[in-house]
Amino acid sequence: MEFQPIASLLHESQHEKKVRVRGWVHRKRSSGGVAFIVIRDASGIIQVAVKKDRVSDESMRAAEEALMEAHVETEGIVQKDRRAPGGFEMRALDFRIRHSAKPFPISRDKSTEFLLDIRHLWIRSQQQTHVMKVKAQMLESIRLLFKKKGYFETTPPIIVSGACEGGSTLFTFDYFGKKAFLSQSAQLYLEALIYSLEKVYAITPSFRAEKSRTVRHLAEYWHVEGEEAYMDLDGLLKFEEELVTFVCHDLAKKSSEELRALGRDPAELLKVKTPFKRLRYNDAVELLREKGSHIKEGHDLGAEEERLLTEKEAQPIFVTHFPKKIKAFYMSEDPEDSKTVLCNDCLAPEGYGEIIGGSQREDDVKKLEARLRTEGQNPNNYEWYLDLRRYGSVPHSGFGLGAERLLRWIAKLEHIRDTVPFPRVINRSYP
Ligand code: ATP
Ligand code: MG
Repeated sequence: MEFQPIASLLHESQHEKKVRVRGWVHRKRSSGGVAFIVIRDASGIIQVAVKKDRVSDESMRAAEEALMEAHVETEGIVQKDRRAPGGFEMRALDFRIRHSAKPFPISRDKSTEFLLDIRHLWIRSQQQTHVMKVKAQMLESIRLLFKKKGYFETTPPIIVSGACEGGSTLFTFDYFGKKAFLSQSAQLYLEALIYSLEKVYAITPSFRAEKSRTVRHLAEYWHVEGEEAYMDLDGLLKFEEELVTFVCHDLAKKSSEELRALGRDPAELLKVKTPFKRLRYNDAVELLREKGSHIKEGHDLGAEEERLLTEKEAQPIFVTHFPKKIKAFYMSEDPEDSKTVLCNDCLAPEGYGEIIGGSQREDDVKKLEARLRTEGQNPNNYEWYLDLRRYGSVPHSGFGLGAERLLRWIAKLEHIRDTVPFPRVINRSYP
């Protein structure tokens, strides 16, 4: 008999059917000659009742000896049972341990640091499993939307020789005797690719040496970046809001069970709709002051400001037209105000804050060179990038979305480290 995925057994149609299951011992308790063993596989969990008078002595002994996380196989009859978790139970006819387990180190009341040290085991938890399933679906939904919009997926490099988002968070390493960096963003390379493909995206790891510990910064995260020829800031905002809305709706439909288990009502995601509220930086500053913030004119929005702006919102908002001097060199100057740039941050609601940064890109070589110099950079290191403005340049725009930032909001998670199986932060690169 074939092994069946556990989730496929949790249906009326399976009542009284004889089935075979394999998985790991998720929980266990014994009472009066019956061992109740909850088994987990990738699809779900089911309670198996192993009862003395229904199985061989050998099976009964195995059930009694099986520790949490042992790998087991069982054959039995599915029973509808309201008392069982999930509404169904398996009455075992046979039970065997395929690989035993040592006493599992995870129990209630373990410290977060301890749990992070044994992350390779902690990721077996139901909570982590739900998160990883939602993440897999989220990446699939993102790719689906890009495909619908006629984008090509591309594979930009991770090893790079220049900064994209400022030197302070660059990871440096030795590249055959020369200094090289881990990519902070694929953007500059995506810009190069629009001259042949016009609409491109990439989903790559980005690296930032974030020295302060926050609930929304990782040293290694997955970056979803898109770049489109002929697109202006207005087109960019429309694309971003369509992408976020599509992903919310798709996940509400395809990952509803996991989302509910994580505390996110899918109905809230279905309510997300375009257009998102648009707020210019200057108006955002004014609004913040009304809300009691002491933000200084010309300063970037920090986590606290983003929280104030979004805590009462039910869906993301845009802040646009930031001051030039706090934004990256490649952002296009606003033709109506040379002190600002044509850019946007997309902020997730409920206080979660920035999930996307985007901009129309500067087309003028002279302005790019000047901006690099003001940033203390040598334009010679960006010759290849400046070349893009020397051969048939076209207006274009693009954005970078932090996959883990989006997931943190959608799955209603407190800390960004719970959106990745093996988080990388300042004090941790193990396991
Ligand atoms: P922040 O101000 O929050 O540090 P940023 O302005 O540095 O963000 P960008 O350089 O615009 O961010 O990067 C694009 C997107 O990548 C951000 O909107 C965010 O979603 C994501 N992102 C940036 N840094 C991190 C990080 N350290 N960990 C996880 N995601 C990040
Ligand atoms: Mg940053």
